[in-house]
Amino acid sequence: MKQYDYLIVGAGLFGATFAHQAKKRGKKCLVIDKRFHAGGNIYCKEEEGINVHYYGAHIFHTNDRDIWEFVNSFVEFNRYTNSPLANYKGKLYNLPFNMNTFYQLWGVTTPEEAQQKINEQIASLNIGEPQNLEEQALKLVGTDIYEKLIKGYTEKQWGRKATELPAFIIKRLPVRYTFDNNYFNDKYQGIPIGGYNKLTEGLLAGIDVQLNTNFFDDVEHFKSLAEKIVYTGPLDEYYNYQFGELEYRSLRFEHKRLETPNFQGNAVVNYNEREIPYTRIIEHKHFEFGTQPHTIITYEYPATWEKGMEPYYPLNDDKNSKRFKQYQELSEKESNVIFGGRLAEYRYYDMHQVIGSALVKAKRELGD
Ligand code: UDP
Repeated sequence: MKQYDYLIVGAGLFGATFAHQAKKRGKKCLVIDKRFHAGGNIYCKEEEGINVHYYGAHIFHTNDRDIWEFVNSFVEFNRYTNSPLANYKGKLYNLPFNMNTFYQLWGVTTPEEAQQKINEQIASLNIGEPQNLEEQALKLVGTDIYEKLIKGYTEKQWGRKATELPAFIIKRLPVRYTFDNNYFNDKYQGIPIGGYNKLTEGLLAGIDVQLNTNFFDDVEHFKSLAEKIVYTGPLDEYYNYQFGELEYRSLRFEHKRLETPNFQGNAVVNYNEREIPYTRIIEHKHFEFGTQPHTIITYEYPATWEKGMEPYYPLNDDKNSKRFKQYQELSEKESNVIFGGRLAEYRYYDMHQVIGSALVKAKRELGD
């Protein structure tokens, strides 16, 4: 008998959720993570009462009541609703694209006028089934919104032409003919009161966790500790990049403390022009309605990913999808390794989707 039932590689949402479910069923888990903290990219660094979203803004939202109740069983969530603004050449527009945005762009005051304006723009384009992000965006909102609020932001965010990006990325954003600035359509939304670390701590309570520990420093040793492995790192790394590297888009964050109580009046302001090198500025205190005399802001810069950098966004184009499939075929043959999470599944997952996937895989593995 080995010391642990499961060795869980990665203390992010997938690993922590799986560990929690396994512990509940009496299984012994060891969670290891190469970073100095648990929680993966939801980790927050607390600075004088402000929880700084260390790896970029995370806003929890879901339509699934079970998942909402699951996360709320660890920490209470506040009523934060994401309503980002878009700054384009010094003018502010509401997001997602809704009647407020249409009014700000064209002065139209009714849904009918807005629809007509967009329809006219779409009609002149003659697009069939959208083949890429540009066509998908143009077909949804027409040329004005595409040129001002989508093209520049998207191309700097991804470092690629919008014609070379998959269409599904832009379908994340709602388009509405109501005056509703809620970025998400989901029924449930909020930020953990006291920060995301409370969620991580709740999930990992009573579980052995080893930080600053890299699985690849001694694979054989770590494998010898447990009956099975749950691996949440990059799938190509697990297989020693034998079919080539999977590509990602990376980010660089610049955190700044300012001696002012309120810098931008909103948690998220996007900068949609191509010429401005960052995509957004986050003012963390507004996620929790903070009233501190100072503030902390973060500039988010998209960055070209190279091996060794943080892999934030999978680049799900044809080339990478094919390569991922090859790795996936190998992973499906493993009988003692469970793969999951944004990196191992190479999917543009939101938090609730990662948790959902971990709950399903835990149930499949451990039963009800
Ligand atoms: N997007 C855009 N303009 C915006 C915000 C988003 O064109 O002002 C596009 C962009 O291509 C981005 C995608 O929509 O990659 C998804 O945006 P979301 O805010 O959902 O992305 P995340 O917060 O995960 O980076």
